[in-house]
Amino acid sequence: MEHAPLLLVVEDDSAILSFLTAVLGANGYEVRVAASGQEALSLSSSYVPDAILLDLGLPDIDGLHVLRQIRIWSDIPVLVVSARGHEREKVEALDAGADDYITKPFGTGELLARIRAALRRHASKVGDSSAKTSIRVGDLFIDYEKRAVSLSGKEVHLTPIEYKIIVLLSENIGKVITHDTIVKHLWGPYAKDLPALRVNMANIRRKIEENPAEPRYIRTEVGVGYKMAEEADR
Ligand code: CA
Repeated sequence: MEHAPLLLVVEDDSAILSFLTAVLGANGYEVRVAASGQEALSLSSSYVPDAILLDLGLPDIDGLHVLRQIRIWSDIPVLVVSARGHEREKVEALDAGADDYITKPFGTGELLARIRAALRRHASKVGDSSAKTSIRVGDLFIDYEKRAVSLSGKEVHLTPIEYKIIVLLSENIGKVITHDTIVKHLWGPYAKDLPALRVNMANIRRKIEENPAEPRYIRTEVGVGYKMAEEADR
């Protein structure tokens, strides 16, 4: 690695902050800290970190507002780290542009894996998004140029809507996409048809999953949305 990735940790709880700083420092990250939303906003524009870990419950501005402000000018990966474990808050954070959502308490291994995944996704997005013509996950192969999907070399026949869903998820591989985002992507900004999405998802899974009840490729985040797995093994 050329330089240590720079992380901005936004957290007002000093115990959690020193834990995070120690863990991240020991794992090769350079760390800057902000203890308030205001500080987070000014440091994120002055340092332009490689990723931000953002607590939602901050003393001055709500973390969600901080996130929306950052998203106006930047697509820096933001991982929301919060004690708020409700689905509604996850959905809000993801819809506001969070790259991932980690609920406290969390394990160190999980935290580090999610940071690596967010940095990797961001790097590939910046690097060769326009050059990408296909993607493979396990036995699933999606050819964007031919608009074709195959499983273990056998063509999978998808409807146009099913294809759109699988492309949206694969372009955001590893990231949870909320129900609302998918529905709007498919049927426009005013659409609210979650049941139709569920029906389409069930059909996709019947076509690509060996066991649709235990999907390998498209995972359900209950109450939040769906994500395509980066690796197909469970
Ligand atoms: Ca807090």
